[in-house]
Amino acid sequence: MEEFEEFDDFRDRQSTIGEDGSRLWVYPKQPKGILYNYRKITSFVLLAILFIIPFIKVNGDPFMLFNFLERKFIVFGVMFYPQDFHLFVLSMIAFIVFVVLFTVIFGRIFCGWICPQTIFMEFLYRPIEYWIEGNHSQQRKLDQSSLDFNKIWRKGLKHFIFFLISFISAHFFLAYITGIDYVGKLITDGPAAHLTGFIGIIAFSVVHYFVFAKLREQVCIIICPYGRLQGVLLDRNSIVISYDYKRGEPRGKYNPLEDRASKNKGDCVECGSCQAVCPTGIDIRNGTQLECINCTACIDACNTVMRRIKKPEGLIRYASERTIADKTKLMFNVRILFYSVVLSGLLILIAFLFSIRTPIESTILRQKGTMFQEYDSLHYSNIYMIQVINKTRKTLQVDLELDEPDGEIKLVGGPLIVKNGEVGESQFLVLIKKSDLKSSNTEVEFKVTSGGEEMDEIESTFVGPNALDRK
Ligand code: SF4
Ligand code: SF4
Repeated sequence: MEEFEEFDDFRDRQSTIGEDGSRLWVYPKQPKGILYNYRKITSFVLLAILFIIPFIKVNGDPFMLFNFLERKFIVFGVMFYPQDFHLFVLSMIAFIVFVVLFTVIFGRIFCGWICPQTIFMEFLYRPIEYWIEGNHSQQRKLDQSSLDFNKIWRKGLKHFIFFLISFISAHFFLAYITGIDYVGKLITDGPAAHLTGFIGIIAFSVVHYFVFAKLREQVCIIICPYGRLQGVLLDRNSIVISYDYKRGEPRGKYNPLEDRASKNKGDCVECGSCQAVCPTGIDIRNGTQLECINCTACIDACNTVMRRIKKPEGLIRYASERTIADKTKLMFNVRILFYSVVLSGLLILIAFLFSIRTPIESTILRQKGTMFQEYDSLHYSNIYMIQVINKTRKTLQVDLELDEPDGEIKLVGGPLIVKNGEVGESQFLVLIKKSDLKSSNTEVEFKVTSGGEEMDEIESTFVGPNALDRK
């Protein structure tokens, strides 16, 4: 791009790495503005949800549980067992496609508004830092100052609170894995009684603290795979945080007494406000960059400047490169419509998969290697094996009915009782009147019930003698 040729040095290195390879600490100015306020509200709501969910129970079980150790998952109150793995994989594939398509259209909106890394950093840890160490320039001064009482108590208090938040958060994250009851026991019984859980909490607290006290924006820039994928996901039509270089360039300092248009100056007054608030230390005027997490802080900052110099807002805004280059308005074009339809289709597919999920999963197979038997003078019999996976939260007594044709079922042994989350199996005989068999292979239909409620329907075949033998 011709206009940017003279500012091309930003491509030589990352915004947070100095020329000698050392880390450049980012001291972002605290943003102010409408979008920041909306993000603050969104973040508080999401944080509240995150910390309240472990306390919600459905029929005595957690509302959400991701117990990887015991391979037990509860999502929105619905329990999933290893037998539901196919559903899990399909949902994951649909989710990945959803994320890819969403990013192609709407860029990194997720990173700026919903990502836990951004929410914890910008709306929990960072405000505490402003509160204890002062604004961005006071923080810089404090870091450069020699070790004195002022520095010790401010740094000490900040890191103590940071670790405390990490320690509390670790309990909640453990609750998502083991359930809140276990975490409650861990607190009341003490670490010695639950050493593994306690080690897990300490390990997680240290990692959490390290991420927000030290790593910070490096997680988004270097570690996060979603961030690294932006280069292949975004194109000229993706809606990202963009600087309108057509309107802003050629940039030049503001002078209230001069007519900018006659001096061939664009609307960017080179105030540096957009760069000052950026949590990843970049200058959005250099175009879309891997480091941009779409946090909107630069939009708020620039809009404030535009209002002050009485220019229209939106020099930095949500826009695609194409809309800026062609000076067109963002439109709901065919591409967005197509992707939206695909995304809706995927969501419907996921919803459908969940809706057809049965509380039990049953299989009925004729006993291997067996043929029909003459049960008595009136009936032929076949022997079957039934296997039932109980995906409900309670122990079930499973009953069988023969739906088609007329016949009788005789269970071998007692009734089939299956505990929740377990697999039960049993053998049974099906008796069908000789006179009712019209061929050597008769289709049979079973109804699997429990407590009078129909749980599943299964088809199989009943083997009988061929027509000649029946005469
Ligand atoms: S805040 Fe706006 S006017 Fe100021 S430097 Fe950034 S783009 Fe230019
Ligand atoms: S460039 Fe703007 S939107 Fe991107 S991370 Fe920096 S402040 Fe946030």
